Amino acid sequence: NTEDIKILLLENVNQTGRDILKAQGYQVEFLKTSLPEDQLIEKIRDVHVIGIRSKTKLTAKVLSEAKNLLVIGCFCIGTNQVDLDYAAKHGIAVFNSPFANSRSVAELVIAEIITLARQLGDRSLEMHRGTWNKVSSKCWEIRGKTLGIVGYGHIGSQLSVLAEAMGMSVIYYDILTLMAIGTARQVPTLEALLEEADFVTLHVPETPETKNLISTAHLERMKTGSYLINASRGTVVDIPALIKAMRAGKIAGAALDVYPNEPAANGDYFVNDLNSWAEDLRGLNNIILTPHIGGSTEEAQRAIGVEVAEALVRYINQGITLGSVNLPEVTMRSLTLDEPNHARVIYIHRNVPGVLRKVNEILAEHNVDKQISDSKGDVAYLMADISDVKTEDIKEIRDSLDALSSRIMTRVLY
Ligand code: NAD
Repeated sequence: NTEDIKILLLENVNQTGRDILKAQGYQVEFLKTSLPEDQLIEKIRDVHVIGIRSKTKLTAKVLSEAKNLLVIGCFCIGTNQVDLDYAAKHGIAVFNSPFANSRSVAELVIAEIITLARQLGDRSLEMHRGTWNKVSSKCWEIRGKTLGIVGYGHIGSQLSVLAEAMGMSVIYYDILTLMAIGTARQVPTLEALLEEADFVTLHVPETPETKNLISTAHLERMKTGSYLINASRGTVVDIPALIKAMRAGKIAGAALDVYPNEPAANGDYFVNDLNSWAEDLRGLNNIILTPHIGGSTEEAQRAIGVEVAEALVRYINQGITLGSVNLPEVTMRSLTLDEPNHARVIYIHRNVPGVLRKVNEILAEHNVDKQISDSKGDVAYLMADISDVKTEDIKEIRDSLDALSSRIMTRVLY
């Protein structure tokens, strides 16, 4: 029953998400802050769902106290704050919202392209200090210039549309062959992109291959007087190499939104005892330095609220794991809960041989309309819709599945 589902939302989860969950009739408790570990443990004991942002650490210690927990909603991008492996091994699904802020990042990059081309950051800083310094030398329109997008995923492709609308030519490089949007053109190598682009912007994930993707050799390939923008991950650009290239006049401007070892809280960061390159970076002209705000907008927060809350509802009501970061992604057409004698069996189990045979022996007396199963590492997820079950059969099915040695969690929705 939906009204039996207890949800704890911490860290001021967006109103959009709260509304969706309340509209389902769940019991929702909402707190504006995170909780100290002892209070978190106290609260997590009897809830079915917990919604957090980045400050709540759901460690194995905390999760081991949660006796009824079905699912964790991370109303944010990252999931490092959750022990994903422990959660998977205990059948607890984890959802996040990786792409709800793509548009916000793309818009920030557009702003930065013009800001760099017109040296707006420097002019504004000079005026703040009281100096009138009217300059047109080496200030440019962006119309007709070439934007090189490295990584043509959610953000890169959004950016492609916006940049073309402002009269830029767009080229992109990606490890995958991807359909161009508008008149954008894929180039075969990173080098080809660097040689042709007036502005290079990075939108790749953090992987071993993208670590220091842009370092001395690649900066040398770039056009003299070109610009570099990084709003992807801090490891993608070799910062000391960028400082050198800017001092040499090779790179005319840069915007950095992300850095190695970003701090968890606001405060000192850009100081030399924390980062050896900080003073040098701060001393450069025409460089925009922002504290990882690419996705930080009200719209993105709202979109995250909707995306995560909808994923939670689908999981609670239907068992659908689409978009889960730690369980195999399994989906099936919507369950018609009001149809008589229908039930959906969900069996989360250890991924060992022989399980399907045993499960099907248990379900054999019923009519299995549809069944799907998938695995991810040690954990497998089975979903079966059965159609001639009576209420009294449900308990028997659940008990028989619970008795199997491979069991992690059994749910029967009806
Ligand atoms: P995405 O997964 O949709 O797209 C990434 C693209 O990069 C994919 O098309 C992939 O094929 C490509 N790619 C992977 N490895 C590559 C390589 N070695 N060379 C070239 N291309 C490669 O990701 P997205 O949502 O567009 O995000 C892009 C980046 O932006 C990620 O690093 C993400 O963490 C970051 N991000 C930053 C902010 C911010 O606030 N600054 C916000 C959201 C996302």
